[in-house]
Amino acid sequence: MDVTHILESLNDEQREAVTLGDEHALILAGAGSGKTRVLVHRIAWIIQTMNISPYSILAVTFTNKAAAEMRGRIENLLNVPAGGMWVGTFHGLAHRILRTHYAEAGLPKAFQIIDSDDQLRLLKRIIRDAQIDEAKWPAKQAQWYINNKKDEGLRAQNLDAQGDFMEQQWIDIYKSYQKICDNSGLLDFAEILLRAHELWLKNPSVLADFQRRFRHILVDEFQDTNTIQYAWLRLLAGQTSKVFIVGDDDQSIYGWRGAKVENIQRVQNEFEKMFLVRLEQNYRSTGNILRAANKLIEKNFGRLGKKLWTAGEDGELVKLYTAYNEQDEARFVVETIKQWIEQGNDRKDCAVLYRSNAQSRVLEEALLMENMPYRIYGGMRFFDRAEIKDALAYLRMVASQLDDAAFERVINTPPRGIGEKTLQAIRAQALKDGVSLWDAMALILEAQAVPARASKALNGFLEIINSLLELSGGAGLENLLLAVLEQSGLVEHYKKEKGEKGRARVENLQELVSAVKQFELDSLEAGVDEEFEEMDDLSVFLAYTALESSNGQAEIGDDCVQLMTLHSAKGLEFPMVFMVGMEEGLFPSERSVEEVDRLAEERRLCYVGMTRAEKQLVLTAAEHRRLYGREFYPKVSRFVRELPQDVIVDVRPRAQISTPISRNTFIDEDALDDFQLCLGQIVRHMKFGDGVLLNFEGKGHHVRVQINFYDAGPKWLVLAYANLQPV
Ligand code: ATP
Ligand code: MG
Repeated sequence: MDVTHILESLNDEQREAVTLGDEHALILAGAGSGKTRVLVHRIAWIIQTMNISPYSILAVTFTNKAAAEMRGRIENLLNVPAGGMWVGTFHGLAHRILRTHYAEAGLPKAFQIIDSDDQLRLLKRIIRDAQIDEAKWPAKQAQWYINNKKDEGLRAQNLDAQGDFMEQQWIDIYKSYQKICDNSGLLDFAEILLRAHELWLKNPSVLADFQRRFRHILVDEFQDTNTIQYAWLRLLAGQTSKVFIVGDDDQSIYGWRGAKVENIQRVQNEFEKMFLVRLEQNYRSTGNILRAANKLIEKNFGRLGKKLWTAGEDGELVKLYTAYNEQDEARFVVETIKQWIEQGNDRKDCAVLYRSNAQSRVLEEALLMENMPYRIYGGMRFFDRAEIKDALAYLRMVASQLDDAAFERVINTPPRGIGEKTLQAIRAQALKDGVSLWDAMALILEAQAVPARASKALNGFLEIINSLLELSGGAGLENLLLAVLEQSGLVEHYKKEKGEKGRARVENLQELVSAVKQFELDSLEAGVDEEFEEMDDLSVFLAYTALESSNGQAEIGDDCVQLMTLHSAKGLEFPMVFMVGMEEGLFPSERSVEEVDRLAEERRLCYVGMTRAEKQLVLTAAEHRRLYGREFYPKVSRFVRELPQDVIVDVRPRAQISTPISRNTFIDEDALDDFQLCLGQIVRHMKFGDGVLLNFEGKGHHVRVQINFYDAGPKWLVLAYANLQPV
């Protein structure tokens, strides 16, 4: 059998890993060394040379996008369709298993997945209904508590407060929450994994079936698996399957969400005769970028330790730009991208990475001003937008009337005159009888327990859902959605919302129709496994919308600049990478600097960011930043200072940008001259009183100045209108 196409373009160590016999393997290697490539080639190798069906392989990757890419590459290597293969995220795969074994997992057939927004809403309601003091037990923290416990594999009944009153309350909230979810057939993200794990524990024959089926289990980005994911893998692998684990301890960045980097050690202890492969050649980045990244990560303690080298050129130096403020930073980024495109490069080869989602807004504005197309990975994703969630909640009501979270969302959206009082009555009824909100509504209508007006409004809602239910039998997903949009009144409602925002919402709803069309086409093509044919389209579509990671957006083929958080950049690569906001307090984040472990995780995140860059890496920091509605005057990040100075070039020498306030001299730019003002001067404003002139930006009539008022705090004002008087 000709396997050259699988083995060519692999180095010796990579080839060794790909061609291993029927054994366990751990590939432990640094960024860009070809780990993911080895994993994909290994799958092709197994299928081609070990006479194993593609359906007997289970591969776990970190995002849906990575899974799609993996399938694409396997198809290319083998020239066979890989549509129904078991390649996906932990959540996606576990969900697929639960769909086929819902009964054994103790779930209703039409169980629904709720995202973290719905989860939070539900928790708020529970805390309110139980009259718990929300100041002491905030819903957000309850959410964190529950998800953490689930990630650790713990149910409320496994927990013991040991007399701690606070803890007991959390446990009680967890209990009530789970009861409602179970009664309504709702699964949160953490529950998907926990439930799939328990399914196997409680049903040995189901587990045995899966163990027989999956002879090979491959995991990418293993360093970020958490306790329940590990337990799930361990159980599935049993005594017979072979695992192929790929990871890099230096890239473990989800410790804050329960990932256990120790799993790398654990897997070596628990699987016998595990073959260890190290890859040391980096194929991604230039010498300078790699040297900077290597040096940075050396500062961390307790690493497994790896060498990483490249045969490539040194390339350009890493650039550092220190901006006046976040606007200046964004402007610089956009200017640099423009020049790069003028040199004949593509926008899509350019990524802007940031620590916090909130940083994207200013960047977006700057990109919009220049009419430069961009796409955000991971930010507000399409399926998270309010109007889309509204429409989906109607679909969820059709899929399952037990879905209380969906009920709460749509009962009065758009407003149809159902008030809080009526809602309270429904909730109370549901609580009393232990039924869903939908059933409680029917009971209330029957008993005529609410005033005539409320009853009429409820009947209106009931009719909408019932008529959609009638349609859902055979009309097809697209028609069902069109009916939702029309009968719910959502489109009409958003049309009334004024201006651009309303228009965008209506367009988004229309876009949802395209998404449904595309979904129907894709599922036809994917030729899903026969065992899935039973699943109805609607449930599959809803699960897809809940699980689809934000990365979906960027798959749309336009050539646009890529914006994303450092976390979502994991595993990806781009010729040009910007890392913005390299400032103390932002990156490393404020809370991390006091704890050694957290700081180390931030440093790994920085390492991940830097190693995404193939040819050019640009770091930026602002001397003054407005973020989360607050003002900061940060120092440049320690991570910048930890880089070897000979690989960095300051593209705006610091001499020129020393903090204006410390200069306190007339500056040569004539912007302030016309007003006879200088930085550092004390000025008086009619409304805000006295303050120090700290900073300025812009030219001519557009000059804006920043004054730190003694009473009113720092403010930006347009100089031409501020009418400032020197004091
Ligand atoms: P990360 O740790 O960031 O996930 P990785 O170790 O998974 O990185 P890959 O993404 O698999 O690395 O590979 C990095 C880049 O190097 C890819 O563009 C890949 O195609 C290329 N590459 C890997 N091995 C080779 C090779 N032997 N010859 C040429 N290019 C290679
Ligand atoms: Mg990888």
